[in-house]
Amino acid sequence: MRGGPDPALPVGGATRAPRKTVRFDVLTLFPDFFLSPLKISLLGKAIEAGKLSVFLHDIRQWATDKHRTIDDLPYGGGPGMVMKPEPLVAALEAVRDSSLKGRRIYLSPKGRHLRQQDLKGYLNWEQIVLLCGRYEGIDQRVIDHSIDEEVSVGDYVLAGGEAAALVFIEAVTRLIPGVLGNEGSLEEESFTTGSLIEYPHYTRPEEFRGLRVPEVLLSGDHQKIREWRRLESDRLLKSRK
Ligand code: SAM
Repeated sequence: MRGGPDPALPVGGATRAPRKTVRFDVLTLFPDFFLSPLKISLLGKAIEAGKLSVFLHDIRQWATDKHRTIDDLPYGGGPGMVMKPEPLVAALEAVRDSSLKGRRIYLSPKGRHLRQQDLKGYLNWEQIVLLCGRYEGIDQRVIDHSIDEEVSVGDYVLAGGEAAALVFIEAVTRLIPGVLGNEGSLEEESFTTGSLIEYPHYTRPEEFRGLRVPEVLLSGDHQKIREWRRLESDRLLKSRK
C-alpha cells in the first residue's frame, strides 16, 4: 500500500485535505506501524468519509548521508542514541504546508498530558504535524527550534511515539463533527465534564541554527554534567505543575 495511489492513506503528502477535515502529517521511522489501525473502525471510516486525512512520512528520506543516518551518540555520555536535529528539522519544514493553519507536535513522555478537555481545541488547526521519536528521544534543539508543543499520553515510556500518535489521532478524530454515530455520547463521557522528568538531550553538531549545546556537556566533567542534568530535570518538573 505504501507508495501506491491510495487516496484514503496518502503517503508522501502532496494532496491538500478537503475543507472541514483535519489533516495529520506523521513523521516516523516506521510508517507501516499505522497502516492497519488507519484502515479499520472509526479511523478507517473517518478517512473514507473524507473527514480525516493522514499522510505518513518516513523520516529517513531526510537523512543526507549514504547510510541514511538519523541518530548519533549523546553529548555528555550516557546510554542509547539520540535522533539528530538536521533530518528532523528538514522533515518538519518539508511537510508543513504554510497555507494551512498548523501545529507541530512532538509526542514525548516529558510533554503536557493529553486531556479530554483540551482535545476540541485541536480541531481549530487545519494541519497537525506529529513527530514520533525513537531511541533515547530527539535532540533538544529540534524542540526549541521547530516544535510548538510536546504532548504525552501518560507517565510511562513507550518504545516510540507511534502508538502515542495513534492515541492522539483517534482521540481528536472522535470529536470531528459527524464522525461518531451518536454525538450525544461525547457530552457525558469520561473527562468531558469536569516523577522524574528527563533532562534535555543534545547530539552533534555543536551548533545548529544558532543554538549551541550547553557548555557543561562539552566539559567532560561528569560531576558537573550530572548536577546540570539534575537541575534541568527539577526545572522541567516544576514547570509542568
Ligand atoms: N529517554 C526518554 C525519556 O526517558 O524520557 C524516552 C524515550 S522513548 C524510549 C522513545 C520515544 O517514544 C520518545 O522520543 C517519544 O517520541 C515516544 N514516547 C515514549 N513514551 C511516550 C509517552 N508516554 N507519550 C508520548 N510519546 C512517548
